[in-house]
Amino acid sequence: MSSAQGKTEVIRAPQAGTAVLTPNPLQSERVFRLLVESLSDYALFLLTPDGVVASWNPGAERMKRYKPAEIIGRHFSIFYVPGDLEARKPENELRMARETGRHEDEGWRLRKDGTRFWANVVITAIRDTDGQLLGFGKITRDVTDRREAELRYRLLIDGVTDYAIYSLDRHGNITSWNSGAQRIKKYSAEEIIGKHFSQFYTKEDAEAGLPAKVLHTAATTGHFEGEGWRIRKDGSKFWSSVVITPIRDEAGELVGFSKITRDVTDRMKLLEKIQHHADELEIRVAERERTNAELEAFSYSVSHDLRSPLRAIEGFTDIVLTDYGSQLPEPVLGLLQNVVQSATRMNRLVEDLLNYGRLGRIEIESAPVSVAAAVKAACEQIDENLRDEIKSAVDPSFQVSANLATLTQSLFNLIANGLKFYPPGQKPHVDVSASREKGDIVVRIKDEGIGIEPQHLERIFQVFERLHGDQLYPGTGIGLAIVKRGINRIGGKVWVESKPGKGSSFFISLPAA
Ligand code: ADP
Repeated sequence: MSSAQGKTEVIRAPQAGTAVLTPNPLQSERVFRLLVESLSDYALFLLTPDGVVASWNPGAERMKRYKPAEIIGRHFSIFYVPGDLEARKPENELRMARETGRHEDEGWRLRKDGTRFWANVVITAIRDTDGQLLGFGKITRDVTDRREAELRYRLLIDGVTDYAIYSLDRHGNITSWNSGAQRIKKYSAEEIIGKHFSQFYTKEDAEAGLPAKVLHTAATTGHFEGEGWRIRKDGSKFWSSVVITPIRDEAGELVGFSKITRDVTDRMKLLEKIQHHADELEIRVAERERTNAELEAFSYSVSHDLRSPLRAIEGFTDIVLTDYGSQLPEPVLGLLQNVVQSATRMNRLVEDLLNYGRLGRIEIESAPVSVAAAVKAACEQIDENLRDEIKSAVDPSFQVSANLATLTQSLFNLIANGLKFYPPGQKPHVDVSASREKGDIVVRIKDEGIGIEPQHLERIFQVFERLHGDQLYPGTGIGLAIVKRGINRIGGKVWVESKPGKGSSFFISLPAA
């Protein structure tokens, strides 16, 4: 055979310059032999009708390690492993090739040195024109590497237990099943391979044609992703997250689908719980909004109903004082002035209460606010005679995320209190300073006044909580409640440190802008 090697005869087509093989039939046979011999990746050989090796190509020699002289004339069962021999595989394969013309198989085969390789084998019956069996052609390929890669891949897939990974044929019948699939869906591979995947769907989904729809989507768009209820072998339901990908052969022909399913019931339940809480919260918010609306209506009527008679009292008393003041005896004048003062005080009370109520309801928008500017604005609202008693040292670069009106109002209330709560006759003094603490700016309003007993430090921030009589320290008892509510609404905190008899420091902390 080797004598022909390297002598392929070609004639040159003069014009085109392409090599063309001669059409001579004898020549064709020689070329065919050469082809067979050059196929070193395939073992190609002939068997007699009884299975005796009749020819041997270099590919066969390379694969099975026998030289032609060593193997020609021997029975081909020599290539089979003992188990296959016991099962009479060589005879059966020849029989099947004889009966059907061709037989294909994959399995272990032996080399001359006894080592194994995984072979893909095709045996073809060769007959003459009368149908007489001349022998068999046998093509063997060593596909050990492919098998190992497949095995590794299968082991990898099977090692995944958190995901059900399985494949379907074109019609949706299950063709592979990993341990994750068994864990999640409870079917063993033996039970489920060959069955249609629609059996995992609920009756309603199956009846609505969902299984066919998802395969169609995957096939036409290259991908399907979705979530839904699926049924385990025991009939229990789980919420699954599914990804389906079509599998195509080299020609692009659809051969099946791969399917990855995850049991996300826990996540779904958690989401349901969150949704439930959100719904509840929404109901509560709605209730609160309703209450707020009622309160608002009430506040409006209070302000309206209380203010007009108050205004009438103030107005008429004022008229009496202006128009008839000179005719009235001194004690009556004094009493009437008390009336005016009380009406004024009540007016302020109503005003403060309405402000406090409004602070809880309205939208307060935050924006970067200069602390120094807010302090300045607050000081400008302080009684002119007391303004000089305030010392302010705030870094002009300090900006907080706040609402200017709310911050100014709060600073005003704290500074005004600081100037107010001094022992009678003592000249008041307030220091305003600010410092940066991590991401916050902390403003401090410090006085050296009467101070506050420790047990009252919390409650003074509540509405109407006052520690002194109105005669000594006039006020409504709402100022600090307004500060607390306002500062909380813009994301800040308020607190106080105090030493009775020594003075107090009120602090406002707000996020730096
Ligand atoms: P008002 O000042 O109108 O009484 P606030 O709500 O502003 O109401 O204050 C509540 C109470 O807290 C005051 O009545 C007073 O007893 C106490 N307080 C507030 N600020 C100071 C301060 N700087 N020093 C001492 N006590 C204070």
